[in-house]
Amino acid sequence: MRHPLELSPFACTRDWIMSAPLLLRRPQLPAYYTCTSCLVRLSRWRGSVRAKSTAAGATAKPFTLPSKPARTRFAPSPTGYLHLGSLRTALFNYLLAKATGGQFLLRIEDTDQKRTVADAETRLYRDLRWAGLQWDEGPEAGGPYGPYRQSERSQLYQEHAHKLLENGHAYRCFCSSERLNALAQQRHKMGMATDYDRTCAGIPKEEADDRAAKGESHVVRLRVPEQYPAYKDLVYGAFKPLKRRGHVVETAYEDPILLKSDGLPTYHLANVVDDHHMKITHVIRGSEWMPSTPKHIAMYNAFGWTPPQFAHVGLLVDEQGNKLSKRNFDTDITAFQEMEIFPETLTNFAALLGWSHQEKSDIMNLEDLVKNFSLKFTKGNTTVTFGKLHFLQRKHAALRAKAGGEPLMDMVQNVVNLLTGPESTYKSGDLGVLQGDSLLLDEYVQKVIQADPENYTNANEWVYRNAFMFQLLRHPESVTSADGVPQQVKALRDVKEWNRDELNTKIKEIIDARPEGRAGAKDVYHYLRKALTDKDDGMRIYDIMMILGREESLARLGADS
Ligand SMILES: [Zn+2]
Repeated sequence: MRHPLELSPFACTRDWIMSAPLLLRRPQLPAYYTCTSCLVRLSRWRGSVRAKSTAAGATAKPFTLPSKPARTRFAPSPTGYLHLGSLRTALFNYLLAKATGGQFLLRIEDTDQKRTVADAETRLYRDLRWAGLQWDEGPEAGGPYGPYRQSERSQLYQEHAHKLLENGHAYRCFCSSERLNALAQQRHKMGMATDYDRTCAGIPKEEADDRAAKGESHVVRLRVPEQYPAYKDLVYGAFKPLKRRGHVVETAYEDPILLKSDGLPTYHLANVVDDHHMKITHVIRGSEWMPSTPKHIAMYNAFGWTPPQFAHVGLLVDEQGNKLSKRNFDTDITAFQEMEIFPETLTNFAALLGWSHQEKSDIMNLEDLVKNFSLKFTKGNTTVTFGKLHFLQRKHAALRAKAGGEPLMDMVQNVVNLLTGPESTYKSGDLGVLQGDSLLLDEYVQKVIQADPENYTNANEWVYRNAFMFQLLRHPESVTSADGVPQQVKALRDVKEWNRDELNTKIKEIIDARPEGRAGAKDVYHYLRKALTDKDDGMRIYDIMMILGREESLARLGADS
């Protein structure tokens, strides 16, 4: 029979102790001993296997949205800026609220004042709004369950820690950090989880209260239950904890700290108390929080509250499987803004990282995402590839060009700024000639964008690609051509009305008059493109000639005199 861990996708990091020379003074471990933290992981894994095997035959749709309006939240710490991973978390919570007619809350988890970055909060507001994720309740928006900054809610956390002290679900721990460190080191050496040994759980309550009243430094710990409650993750399915085995000597308890010695809450207490008081119904968060979730559910039970529903989404990793970090592009979203990525491109991109849909096309703006949202999340990590980002950007550029209005004018403005800026190599005289009948450079730029929107990633790249539309080009020397073509195309000067139909008719005439006939059409078109743009590919020939107009087109073809 194989060790149960061999069947598990998780390697037990502690089972080396099984074969290590026994330094420990504890009973011989049973043959299939599994350490506590592995028990938790195993049970989670078994839970997900169970969920998978029942899903196949199940008739209920597992990804459908809740039938009642969901209240969700995004709860960042102002210890850094919004980055791709946290934007995705915010977005999923926003979409769930909006898709069910609920509310999206913003809560600032600023209990760790030492790590707070001065401008992080204002940047966060700005970046969320830039992405279109306006919160219904939170700082600057107000709401009935505020304040929405945890540093302003300390009183509430202390009251709640005391409730748990009163009902026996929490206790005061007076251990010094030296003792805890020594304990952790010793347990680590023995290959055991570095949890707490519950020394202080045995102190009678009156004595503990008395020592606290006299000002003795202490923390408040949650007394975790003998067995964690079961719960159902909306992504991973049922979590069913395994029973502790009676014959395993296990004196460690996870008992998380709720209140620190300075009286401020830890994340565990603050987020449970706030989610309850803010009537949060659903929490979508990164899978790094999965190990903490049983503790959080235990805390809801200790308070006698109903926990929200949890959906854990996988981590973002690069193509080598490494967690995204600053080195591999998980910089704050300013980097995307500097690349002129549109907000709708970035939210589209972020949404597709671990969420899937039934639509034919991946191209969705925020409104489409709300309309199509479901809880169809991928289990496991999501690989981020940036080719997709640029693909989506070009598609959204085309949508902007088609729809017109302000989003298109933003693109136009970026291009105009680039052309007329102090570092521009484009001559205002040239631009003046080219814009011709258009009264403004904006109008001319808009026409060019609308002729080639599917290649727009940012102003700089796009202008470089279409430089021939912004400078006077005179019969480039690089043009080589099939016999006679340069002379033959000069017949375009006979076109009376410079419009698509007449140009088309004249070019067909030119082609038909050549000995090669239609077989030589590509030579004619290639020459036209080369002479008009000095490039081998790009926007359609007729668009180019229409935007440049008769004079400039003929000048490029050497047919103006
Ligand atoms: Zn203690």
